[in-house]
Amino acid sequence: MNNFAIAIHGGAGTLVKGLMTEALESKYKKALKNALETGYHLLENGGSALDVVEMAVKVLEDSPLFNAGKGAVFTAEGTHEMDASIMDGKTLNAGAVSLVTGIKNPVALARDVMEKSSHVFLAGDGAMQFAKSNGYVIESPDYFYDELRYQQWQAIKGSEEFQLDHSVKKDSKFGTVGAVACDKNGNIAGATSTGGMTNKKWGRVGDSPMVGAGVYANNKTCAVSCTGSGEFFIRGVVAYDVSCLMEHKGLSLKEAADEVIHKRIMEINGDGGLIAIDSRGNIAMPFNTEGMYRASKSSSGIEEISIYK
Ligand code: ASP
Repeated sequence: MNNFAIAIHGGAGTLVKGLMTEALESKYKKALKNALETGYHLLENGGSALDVVEMAVKVLEDSPLFNAGKGAVFTAEGTHEMDASIMDGKTLNAGAVSLVTGIKNPVALARDVMEKSSHVFLAGDGAMQFAKSNGYVIESPDYFYDELRYQQWQAIKGSEEFQLDHSVKKDSKFGTVGAVACDKNGNIAGATSTGGMTNKKWGRVGDSPMVGAGVYANNKTCAVSCTGSGEFFIRGVVAYDVSCLMEHKGLSLKEAADEVIHKRIMEINGDGGLIAIDSRGNIAMPFNTEGMYRASKSSSGIEEISIYK
Protein backbone atom coordinates (compact mmCIF):
# COMPACT_ATOMS: atom_id res chain seq x y z
CA MET A 1 0.00 0.00 0.00
CA ASN A 2 1.10 3.51 -0.77
CA ASN A 3 1.89 5.99 1.99
CA PHE A 4 -1.04 8.37 2.30
CA ALA A 5 -0.85 11.95 3.48
CA ILE A 6 -2.55 15.33 3.61
CA ALA A 7 -1.37 18.92 4.00
CA ILE A 8 -3.52 22.02 4.43
CA HIS A 9 -2.95 25.75 4.70
CA GLY A 10 -4.96 28.68 5.99
CA GLY A 11 -2.95 31.46 4.36
CA ALA A 12 0.50 33.01 4.67
CA GLY A 13 1.44 36.51 5.75
CA THR A 14 2.63 38.84 8.46
CA LEU A 15 2.13 36.32 11.21
CA VAL A 16 4.51 37.37 13.95
CA LYS A 17 4.77 35.40 17.15
CA GLY A 18 3.60 37.39 20.14
CA LEU A 19 1.15 39.55 18.20
CA MET A 20 -1.64 37.07 18.59
CA THR A 21 -3.22 36.11 21.88
CA GLU A 22 -2.69 32.55 23.02
CA ALA A 23 -6.43 32.01 22.93
CA LEU A 24 -6.66 33.07 19.29
CA GLU A 25 -3.63 31.01 18.37
CA SER A 26 -5.19 27.93 19.86
CA LYS A 27 -8.44 28.67 17.99
CA TYR A 28 -6.54 28.66 14.71
CA LYS A 29 -4.72 25.48 15.57
CA LYS A 30 -7.98 23.81 16.54
CA ALA A 31 -9.57 24.82 13.24
CA LEU A 32 -6.55 23.51 11.31
CA LYS A 33 -6.58 20.26 13.28
CA ASN A 34 -10.27 19.80 12.59
CA ALA A 35 -9.75 20.08 8.82
CA LEU A 36 -6.60 17.94 8.93
CA GLU A 37 -8.20 15.12 10.91
CA THR A 38 -11.35 15.16 8.76
CA GLY A 39 -9.21 14.70 5.66
CA TYR A 40 -6.87 12.16 7.22
CA HIS A 41 -9.75 10.05 8.49
CA LEU A 42 -11.20 9.94 4.99
CA LEU A 43 -7.81 8.86 3.59
CA GLU A 44 -7.51 6.10 6.21
CA ASN A 45 -10.87 4.79 5.10
CA GLY A 46 -9.81 4.62 1.48
CA GLY A 47 -11.15 8.00 0.36
CA SER A 48 -9.79 9.43 -2.89
CA ALA A 49 -7.35 12.34 -2.83
CA LEU A 50 -9.93 14.38 -4.73
CA ASP A 51 -12.67 13.79 -2.13
CA VAL A 52 -10.21 14.50 0.65
CA VAL A 53 -9.01 17.89 -0.62
CA GLU A 54 -12.59 18.98 -1.27
CA MET A 55 -13.67 17.89 2.21
CA ALA A 56 -10.73 19.51 4.01
CA VAL A 57 -11.22 22.81 2.16
CA LYS A 58 -14.94 22.75 2.97
CA VAL A 59 -14.15 22.48 6.67
CA LEU A 60 -11.84 25.50 6.38
CA GLU A 61 -14.43 27.42 4.34
CA ASP A 62 -16.97 26.84 7.10
CA SER A 63 -14.70 28.49 9.69
CA PRO A 64 -14.98 32.28 10.08
CA LEU A 65 -11.26 32.41 10.90
CA PHE A 66 -10.05 32.04 7.31
CA ASN A 67 -10.53 34.25 4.26
CA ALA A 68 -12.63 31.75 2.30
CA GLY A 69 -16.29 30.79 2.37
CA LYS A 70 -17.81 32.03 5.63
CA GLY A 71 -14.79 34.20 6.51
CA ALA A 72 -14.39 35.80 3.06
CA VAL A 73 -13.28 39.46 3.11
CA PHE A 74 -15.35 42.42 1.90
CA THR A 75 -15.03 43.87 -1.61
CA ALA A 76 -15.14 47.63 -2.35
CA GLU A 77 -18.92 47.29 -2.76
CA GLY A 78 -19.33 45.56 0.57
CA THR A 79 -20.00 42.17 -1.01
CA HIS A 80 -18.09 38.90 -0.91
CA GLU A 81 -16.64 37.60 -4.15
CA MET A 82 -15.04 34.22 -3.85
CA ASP A 83 -12.68 32.17 -6.02
CA ALA A 84 -11.95 28.44 -5.80
CA SER A 85 -10.33 25.62 -7.73
CA ILE A 86 -9.71 21.90 -7.61
CA MET A 87 -7.52 19.57 -9.68
CA ASP A 88 -7.21 15.80 -9.96
CA GLY A 89 -3.64 14.58 -10.50
CA LYS A 90 -4.74 11.23 -11.91
CA THR A 91 -6.76 12.58 -14.84
CA LEU A 92 -5.56 16.21 -14.98
CA ASN A 93 -9.23 17.19 -14.77
CA ALA A 94 -9.79 20.57 -13.15
CA GLY A 95 -12.61 22.90 -12.16
CA ALA A 96 -12.64 26.52 -11.03
CA VAL A 97 -14.98 29.36 -10.20
CA SER A 98 -14.37 33.04 -9.75
CA LEU A 99 -16.33 36.05 -8.49
CA VAL A 100 -19.11 33.96 -6.98
CA THR A 101 -21.30 35.35 -4.20
CA GLY A 102 -23.54 33.68 -1.64
CA ILE A 103 -21.99 30.26 -2.17
CA LYS A 104 -21.24 28.54 1.16
CA ASN A 105 -18.62 26.18 -0.28
CA PRO A 106 -17.06 27.53 -3.50
CA VAL A 107 -14.74 24.50 -3.69
CA ALA A 108 -17.77 22.22 -4.13
CA LEU A 109 -18.96 24.43 -6.97
CA ALA A 110 -15.49 24.22 -8.57
CA ARG A 111 -15.73 20.45 -8.40
CA ASP A 112 -19.17 20.53 -9.99
CA VAL A 113 -17.79 22.66 -12.83
CA MET A 114 -15.20 19.92 -13.33
CA GLU A 115 -17.67 17.06 -13.20
CA LYS A 116 -21.00 18.44 -14.37
CA SER A 117 -20.00 20.87 -17.12
CA SER A 118 -17.74 20.47 -20.11
CA HIS A 119 -15.73 23.49 -19.00
CA VAL A 120 -12.89 24.16 -16.58
CA PHE A 121 -13.48 27.72 -15.39
CA LEU A 122 -16.74 29.64 -14.86
CA ALA A 123 -16.86 33.21 -13.57
CA GLY A 124 -19.31 35.80 -12.25
CA ASP A 125 -22.96 35.75 -13.34
CA GLY A 126 -22.47 32.66 -15.47
CA ALA A 127 -20.96 30.74 -12.57
CA MET A 128 -23.91 31.82 -10.42
CA GLN A 129 -26.38 30.60 -13.04
CA PHE A 130 -24.55 27.29 -13.15
CA ALA A 131 -24.73 27.08 -9.34
CA LYS A 132 -28.47 27.78 -9.30
CA SER A 133 -29.17 25.26 -12.03
CA ASN A 134 -27.29 22.70 -9.96
CA GLY A 135 -29.45 23.35 -6.91
CA TYR A 136 -27.09 25.52 -4.85
CA VAL A 137 -28.72 27.52 -2.09
CA ILE A 138 -27.66 31.17 -2.26
CA GLU A 139 -26.84 32.30 1.26
CA SER A 140 -27.79 35.82 2.37
CA PRO A 141 -24.94 38.30 3.04
CA ASP A 142 -25.55 37.77 6.78
CA TYR A 143 -24.00 34.34 6.56
CA PHE A 144 -20.69 35.91 5.52
CA TYR A 145 -20.81 38.88 7.91
CA ASP A 146 -17.89 39.06 10.30
CA GLU A 147 -17.23 42.08 12.49
CA LEU A 148 -13.45 42.04 12.11
CA ARG A 149 -13.65 41.64 8.33
CA TYR A 150 -16.12 44.52 8.26
CA GLN A 151 -13.78 46.73 10.26
CA GLN A 152 -10.88 45.84 7.94
CA TRP A 153 -12.99 47.04 5.03
CA GLN A 154 -14.20 50.18 6.82
CA ALA A 155 -10.59 51.18 7.43
CA ILE A 156 -9.88 51.46 3.69
CA LYS A 157 -13.36 51.82 2.18
CA GLY A 158 -13.59 54.55 -0.44
CA SER A 159 -9.82 54.65 -0.90
CA GLU A 160 -7.81 53.26 -3.77
CA GLU A 161 -6.15 50.82 -1.41
CA PHE A 162 -6.59 47.09 -1.86
CA GLN A 163 -5.71 45.10 1.16
CA LEU A 164 -3.95 41.87 0.48
CA ASP A 165 -4.22 39.43 3.31
CA HIS A 166 -0.44 39.36 3.39
CA SER A 167 0.39 42.98 3.93
CA VAL A 168 -2.38 43.69 6.38
CA LYS A 169 -2.09 45.49 9.66
CA LYS A 170 -0.76 43.33 12.39
CA ASP A 171 -4.05 42.75 14.17
CA SER A 172 -5.77 41.47 11.09
CA LYS A 173 -6.75 38.01 10.05
CA PHE A 174 -5.30 36.07 7.17
CA GLY A 175 -6.37 33.21 5.24
CA THR A 176 -6.85 31.82 1.78
CA VAL A 177 -7.21 28.09 2.34
CA GLY A 178 -6.00 25.03 0.50
CA ALA A 179 -5.37 21.30 0.69
CA VAL A 180 -3.27 18.69 -1.09
CA ALA A 181 -3.53 14.95 -0.55
CA CYS A 182 -2.07 11.62 -1.62
CA ASP A 183 -4.36 8.59 -1.22
CA LYS A 184 -3.70 4.88 -0.69
CA ASN A 185 -3.59 4.35 -4.46
CA GLY A 186 -0.92 6.98 -4.96
CA ASN A 187 -3.31 9.45 -6.58
CA ILE A 188 -2.87 13.11 -5.68
CA ALA A 189 -5.08 16.21 -5.82
CA GLY A 190 -5.09 19.87 -4.84
CA ALA A 191 -7.69 22.54 -4.03
CA THR A 192 -7.61 26.25 -3.14
CA SER A 193 -10.34 28.68 -2.00
CA THR A 194 -10.30 32.38 -1.16
CA GLY A 195 -12.23 35.60 -0.66
CA GLY A 196 -9.34 37.43 -2.38
CA MET A 197 -8.46 40.79 -0.90
CA THR A 198 -10.32 43.43 1.12
CA ASN A 199 -11.70 46.36 -0.91
CA LYS A 200 -10.93 44.64 -4.23
CA LYS A 201 -12.81 45.97 -7.26
CA TRP A 202 -13.03 45.78 -11.04
CA GLY A 203 -13.62 42.06 -10.88
CA ARG A 204 -10.12 41.47 -9.58
CA VAL A 205 -9.19 37.80 -9.64
CA GLY A 206 -6.13 36.37 -7.90
CA ASP A 207 -4.16 33.20 -8.44
CA SER A 208 -6.34 30.92 -6.30
CA PRO A 209 -8.78 29.79 -9.02
CA MET A 210 -6.16 29.68 -11.78
CA VAL A 211 -4.90 26.26 -12.74
CA GLY A 212 -1.11 26.45 -12.87
CA ALA A 213 -0.87 29.53 -10.65
CA GLY A 214 -2.75 28.87 -7.38
CA VAL A 215 -3.42 25.18 -7.86
CA TYR A 216 -2.03 22.25 -9.82
CA ALA A 217 -1.98 18.45 -9.62
CA ASN A 218 -0.32 15.78 -11.71
CA ASN A 219 0.38 12.25 -10.43
CA LYS A 220 3.70 12.30 -12.32
CA THR A 221 5.02 15.17 -10.23
CA CYS A 222 3.05 16.87 -7.45
CA ALA A 223 -0.12 18.56 -6.22
CA VAL A 224 0.21 22.18 -5.09
CA SER A 225 -1.99 24.81 -3.41
CA CYS A 226 -0.66 28.36 -3.04
CA THR A 227 -1.27 31.39 -0.86
CA GLY A 228 0.27 34.81 -1.22
CA SER A 229 0.05 38.02 -3.23
CA GLY A 230 -1.94 36.62 -6.11
CA GLU A 231 -0.61 38.98 -8.76
CA PHE A 232 2.92 37.60 -8.26
CA PHE A 233 1.76 34.00 -8.11
CA ILE A 234 -0.01 34.45 -11.45
CA ARG A 235 3.08 35.98 -13.05
CA GLY A 236 5.28 33.25 -11.60
CA VAL A 237 2.86 30.47 -12.65
CA VAL A 238 3.90 29.12 -9.30
CA ALA A 239 2.05 25.82 -8.88
CA TYR A 240 2.95 24.60 -12.35
CA ASP A 241 6.51 25.81 -11.96
CA VAL A 242 7.02 23.44 -9.01
CA SER A 243 5.72 20.60 -11.18
CA CYS A 244 7.94 21.64 -14.11
CA LEU A 245 11.08 21.71 -12.00
CA MET A 246 10.35 18.15 -10.92
CA GLU A 247 9.41 16.90 -14.36
CA HIS A 248 12.04 18.60 -16.48
CA LYS A 249 14.90 19.15 -14.08
CA GLY A 250 14.48 16.08 -11.90
CA LEU A 251 14.29 18.06 -8.66
CA SER A 252 12.73 16.45 -5.59
CA LEU A 253 9.44 17.84 -4.25
CA LYS A 254 11.23 19.78 -1.52
CA GLU A 255 13.93 21.15 -3.84
CA ALA A 256 11.37 22.29 -6.39
CA ALA A 257 9.06 23.90 -3.84
CA ASP A 258 11.96 25.69 -2.12
CA GLU A 259 13.39 26.91 -5.42
CA VAL A 260 10.08 28.51 -6.38
CA ILE A 261 9.20 30.08 -3.02
CA HIS A 262 12.65 31.10 -1.79
CA LYS A 263 14.16 32.08 -5.13
CA ARG A 264 12.05 32.47 -8.22
CA ILE A 265 9.04 34.22 -6.70
CA MET A 266 11.27 36.42 -4.55
CA GLU A 267 13.11 37.61 -7.64
CA ILE A 268 9.87 39.36 -8.65
CA ASN A 269 9.17 40.45 -5.03
CA GLY A 270 6.38 37.95 -4.49
CA ASP A 271 5.46 36.98 -0.93
CA GLY A 272 3.61 33.90 0.22
CA GLY A 273 3.90 30.16 0.42
CA LEU A 274 2.57 26.86 -0.79
CA ILE A 275 1.84 23.32 0.26
CA ALA A 276 2.87 20.46 -2.02
CA ILE A 277 2.68 16.67 -2.04
CA ASP A 278 3.93 13.92 -4.35
CA SER A 279 2.54 10.47 -5.13
CA ARG A 280 4.72 8.85 -2.48
CA GLY A 281 3.19 11.04 0.20
CA ASN A 282 6.17 13.39 0.64
CA ILE A 283 5.17 16.87 1.77
CA ALA A 284 6.73 20.34 1.44
CA MET A 285 5.31 23.54 2.97
CA PRO A 286 7.72 26.43 2.22
CA PHE A 287 6.84 30.12 2.72
CA ASN A 288 8.83 33.36 2.53
CA THR A 289 6.60 35.38 4.88
CA GLU A 290 6.76 35.52 8.69
CA GLY A 291 4.25 32.73 8.95
CA MET A 292 1.78 30.44 7.26
CA TYR A 293 -1.11 28.61 8.90
CA ARG A 294 -0.32 25.03 7.98
CA ALA A 295 -0.76 21.42 9.01
CA SER A 296 0.18 18.01 7.68
CA LYS A 297 -0.20 14.37 8.60
CA SER A 298 1.03 11.22 6.89
CA SER A 299 0.74 7.46 7.39
CA SER A 300 4.51 7.38 7.84
CA GLY A 301 3.97 9.10 11.19
CA ILE A 302 4.66 12.75 10.42
CA GLU A 303 2.29 15.26 12.00
CA GLU A 304 2.61 19.02 12.22
CA ILE A 305 0.35 21.96 13.02
CA SER A 306 2.22 25.29 12.89
CA ILE A 307 1.87 28.99 12.28
CA TYR A 308 5.31 30.61 12.53
CA LYS A 309 8.72 29.90 11.00
N1 ASP B 1 -3.65 34.43 -3.25
C1 ASP B 1 -4.88 35.05 -2.83
C2 ASP B 1 -5.28 36.13 -3.81
O1 ASP B 1 -4.42 36.85 -4.29
C3 ASP B 1 -4.79 35.67 -1.48
C4 ASP B 1 -4.25 34.80 -0.40
O2 ASP B 1 -3.54 33.84 -0.63
O3 ASP B 1 -4.55 35.09 0.78
O4 ASP B 1 -6.46 36.28 -4.05
